[in-house]
Order: sequence, then C-alpha cells, then structure tokens
Amino acid sequence: PGVQSVEIVVATSQKSETRASEPPASEIRASEIRAPETRAPASGPAPARSRARAVAEPALDGAAAAVAPSAPAYAEAEPAPVAAVGGAEEREDLSAPLDPRFTFENFVVGKPNELAFAAARRVADASAVTFNPLFLYGGVGLGKTHLMHAIAWHIRRKDPSRRVIYLSAEKFMYQFIRALRFKDTMAFKEQFRSVDVLMIDDVQFISGKDSTQEEFFHTFNALVDQNRQVIISADKSPSDLEGMEERLRSRLGWGLVADIHPTTYELRLGILQQKADQMGAKIPQKVLEFLAHKITSNVRELEGALNRIVAHAELVGRAITLESTQEVLHDLLRASNRRVTIEEIQKKVAEHFNIRLSDMSSARRARAVARPRQVAMYLAKQLTQRSLPEIGRKFGDRDHTTVMHAVRKVEELCGTDPAFAEDVELLRRMLEG
Ligand code: ADP
Ligand code: MG
Repeated sequence: PGVQSVEIVVATSQKSETRASEPPASEIRASEIRAPETRAPASGPAPARSRARAVAEPALDGAAAAVAPSAPAYAEAEPAPVAAVGGAEEREDLSAPLDPRFTFENFVVGKPNELAFAAARRVADASAVTFNPLFLYGGVGLGKTHLMHAIAWHIRRKDPSRRVIYLSAEKFMYQFIRALRFKDTMAFKEQFRSVDVLMIDDVQFISGKDSTQEEFFHTFNALVDQNRQVIISADKSPSDLEGMEERLRSRLGWGLVADIHPTTYELRLGILQQKADQMGAKIPQKVLEFLAHKITSNVRELEGALNRIVAHAELVGRAITLESTQEVLHDLLRASNRRVTIEEIQKKVAEHFNIRLSDMSSARRARAVARPRQVAMYLAKQLTQRSLPEIGRKFGDRDHTTVMHAVRKVEELCGTDPAFAEDVELLRRMLEG
C-alpha cells in the first residue's frame, strides 16, 4: 500500500494546481446553469429572475448576441419567465445541462486516464485550437462524460463569450430529426456551425444512422475548417467504430485520440478516498481498500457501492465496518464470487505483505518472508478444498506438517495480535468475496 499511494499523490498535486482557476461547484451552479425553477435555492421567483438576468446579460454581448434575435424582447418582458431570454435560451436548448460535480478538480488522475486528462486540460486551457478533434474513448463508466463536462465548465468560466455546446450524439440526432420534421434544417445547421467548441458525447450512438452521420460529418467539417474546437467521445477508437462511414472514421482520428483504460487498484482507491472525503463520511481505510479490490468494473459502480454503504450507515445509525459493507453489498459482491486458487492466494498475500511471489515457495526463513508464507498456507487451507500435502507441494514442496504448523501458528497469532488478525481477515474477505 505504501507504494500504491505515489500515483495518487501526483494526481493530487496536479489537482491543486487547477484549484485556483477552477471554480468550486457551487459557484458554477449559480452562474452557469440556467434553470431557476429546478436549480436555484428556494429563494422565491423574484430573486431567481434577477439572478438569471445577471447571467443572461453577459451572454448577449458575447458571441451569442449574434444569434439572439429576441434580445430586444427581453427588455420589454422583464417579468417573463427566464426561458424566454434570447441567446441564453438557445444555448440551453442546444447544450445539455452540465453536471456541477464533473470538474477537473473532482477528477482523480492515475495511470489509466492520465493521457485523456492531460489532453482535456490542454484543450480546455488553450485559447487557440490545439488538437482537433480531441477524441476521447474508453469503456463505460470510466470518466469520458466527466472530462467533457470539465472542459465545458473550464472554458465557459474562462471565457464566457465562447459558445460551448455539449450534447450527446443521441440528442444531436434528436435535434436533427426534429429540424427535418419542421423543415428547419437551415437553422439547425446555422446553430451548430456557429459554435466555438462543439462536444459530442457517445458518438457511437449514430453508428448505422446514415442521415444523422451525414449531417454530423458536414457539421464536423465545417467547424474544423473554421478552426473551431471539436471534442468527441466514444466507447471505441475511431477505427473500431462499426457502422460508421469510413471517411467519418478517418476524420475522427485526425486530431488527438486519447483512450481511458480500465481502472487500476490504485486509481480506484484514490477515487474512493476523494469521494469519501467529499461526502464527509468516516470510512475505515480497510473498507476503502476492500471496495477498491472487489469492485473493479468501473467508476460508476464504485460510486454506487460507496453511496450505498454510506446511506445504510446513516439510516441505521451505525459505523461503517468491513462486516456491514459486506452485508450491504452482498448482491454486488456475490456477482464477483468464484473459486479461489492457491496461486491467487499466494499472489494476493505476497502483494499485501510486499514480498516477492517467488518467496512463497523459496527456502528463505526470515520472518518477513516466512510469516506471509504461513498466512498464505492458512488461507489456502481455509479457502480451498486442497489437502495439506497438496498445499505443501504448491509452497516449494514443503511437507504437510509444515502446512499444519503454519495453520496453527496463524490461528494462534490471530488470537493474540488483533492487528494481525485484521490483516488476515481482510485478505480472506478479499479472496473469498
Ligand atoms: P463514461 O462517460 O465514461 O461512461 P462518466 O464520465 O459518466 O463515465 O463517469 C461515471 C462516474 O464515475 C461519474 O460519476 C464520474 O464522476 C465518475 N468518475 C469516473 N472517472 C473518475 C475519476 N477519474 N475521478 C473521479 N470520478 C470519476
Ligand atoms: Mg458518458
């Protein structure tokens, strides 16, 4: 565990660099998200309106003013609902709402996502177009949407006059189809082609949707030709996007293609630590480690698991422990249950005690090596159906009496040394699920 934290420390220091320029989530919420009915604090309709006015005004003298024909109407219609405000209305219409939690500051960086993170930061920080397009891809729940929102927050914050549009490919298609239905494709084209930064999330959605792809391709080309930033995400690399026209696939790969790899244990632990801090929840380190070991599919699941144990602890008014965690996540954990092998036990135990795997079967008798070896033998006896001689053979051809001795020794130590007992218990839970 000592070594594992290094990566996260780096991530944290990167984050603190951004802290100065990155607004806290609450600040963004007030100035950027325009839906006072749902988002503004319960302050009554009048303050909500004046807040929205303050937001709408700067937008009108920026780029949005050019496409805000209803701006004069705003002056007359002061009591009108906020949604009637010209430029801002349009922006809201096109752009999906941004999640206030999805900022760079809240993104934990580790090996699997460092390239995507660095690329996202670069694009967000640059005042001129850098990589175009920036193409982010990776499996579900690994942070693509989070990074895209973070870019949008950052740019909107830094330069509110830049028109930043974020939407899913699905919504893009929906808008396009609606425009077709209302014979309004000119306006549709105009809207999209006048943005400064266009972000389309989950572009794989338009695979096989030929007319939407066609329109997207033209929009894309028009923007890139005018040197506007385009940012795309997908679940696969451009060349692997099936059902996409060849010319579109190749264009998508012209800029920078950055992938997000599946999480590592270190990254999962870092994310859990950050989320636990944010929730202000007291969660024992052992529980976080346990979760980082067991819930490996993606970050969304990891968050879900954390939320569940925190909510449970609050409801029943009890502290979070390894036991309660296992109880609460019973169903989730069972899914990952399977038969554990002696090799896995050896590997996990060696990792845990920071010794070489080869020492599980070596002749070395130093305590630092012998003790973990005994723990592994004990766990092999507990968690597998193997006989003592079989286990002995797997540990460098040792005799069955050695294994028996190891089992007794570990049991004895567990009775006298609570810290040791906890270690063994954690290992057992991790291996057995
Ligand atoms: P994707 O779009 O790739 O499917 P999301 O961006 O929606 O994934 O991420 C899923 C959840 O996991 C979100 O709540 C997001 O905030 C969180 N998440 C993913 N990666 C990270 C990370 N590196 N640091 C913090 N939170 C993360
Ligand atoms: Mg997503």
